[in-house]
Amino acid sequence: MKVTDYFEKAKGKTLISFEVLPPLKGGGMQAIFKTLDPLMEFKPPFVDVTYHREEFIYNKRDSGYYEKIAIRKRPGTVGICASIMHRYGIDAVPHLICGGFTKEDTENVLIDLNFLNIKNVLALRGDARKFDGKFIPEKDGHNFAVDLVNQMHDMNTGKYLDSNIENGEKTDFCIGVAGYPEKHIEAPNFAIDLQYLKAKIDAGASYIVTQMFFDNQKYFDFVDACRAAGINVPIVPGLKPLTKFYQLSSLPRLFFINLPDDLVAAVMKVKGDKEAIKQVGIEWCIAQSKELKAKGAPCLHYYTMGDQDTIRTIAEQVY
Ligand code: FAD
Repeated sequence: MKVTDYFEKAKGKTLISFEVLPPLKGGGMQAIFKTLDPLMEFKPPFVDVTYHREEFIYNKRDSGYYEKIAIRKRPGTVGICASIMHRYGIDAVPHLICGGFTKEDTENVLIDLNFLNIKNVLALRGDARKFDGKFIPEKDGHNFAVDLVNQMHDMNTGKYLDSNIENGEKTDFCIGVAGYPEKHIEAPNFAIDLQYLKAKIDAGASYIVTQMFFDNQKYFDFVDACRAAGINVPIVPGLKPLTKFYQLSSLPRLFFINLPDDLVAAVMKVKGDKEAIKQVGIEWCIAQSKELKAKGAPCLHYYTMGDQDTIRTIAEQVY
């Protein structure tokens, strides 16, 4: 079923969903099941599976020169989705990125997803690779998520890349996209970022999942700004609990988000006590979740990051 149909069917009730990362290459599906098994009692209608672009390693050759080799550290998104659907009988939402894909590669993955009866895809650009400094698409790949949405929308109307194919089978993908309550790191300002978000919706996306945030007011303001800009699709808040001291600096650096004064002060107060820091983060996330639910968010989307125990503790207090 489509993610947006779940929202409609819920009639204002706040659903719950989870996001998992494919295991590192060499790992097995058990890692995913270990994360999801304890979370199934909360009855998520769908689970997202992230997609990761190749990274580089450097091998030293006999000549002394270094050889740059691309490796896929976390392959397997499509297979994991199929496996989740099979084991739990729920929908799986693969993330699909522009980085590392030509348009043809993208089309082929979408054909696979269609054959697997995967109805939902979160369409993303992907981040710049560590050593590139800025996002570099494949030679015949997409520059922005909106281009990927356009390609999916074309397939939904039976239009494939090969111009010889006329009236191809129409896919029926429900397309989600990312939104940034505190603006995307590369956007010159919030207003321009919002224009580009609107372009993704106008191109055919039908829901938004947000970047994590720790101040609910940022989400409420973001929803208001979207509505004022004519973006009327469901906006799902993405949530991640802060559980470690170093995240006070890593989360703002990696995700371009601000941490509220009260949260920082509460963590600083128990500095050095790992368990107490985790407890502060859990309680903060529970409070955030309860308020978002009370104010009618369509779904709370938890980034699990392999920490099912923490997410479970939070979900138990909220659902
Ligand atoms: P876009 O919407 O393309 O925007 C990227 C930047 O370009 C923004 O600054 C935007 O303002 C600007 N822009 C957009 N369109 C245009 C245009 N036409 N002209 C000029 N500028 C434009 N990354 C992964 O690698 N794998 C994942 O599985 C993954 N999952 C994610 C899930 C969620 C919910 C979120 C919020 C992020 C996720 N990311 C993932 C990270 C995401 O790929 C990065 O944040 C990436 O840098 C931007 O992706 P996007 O889809 O928002 O890009």
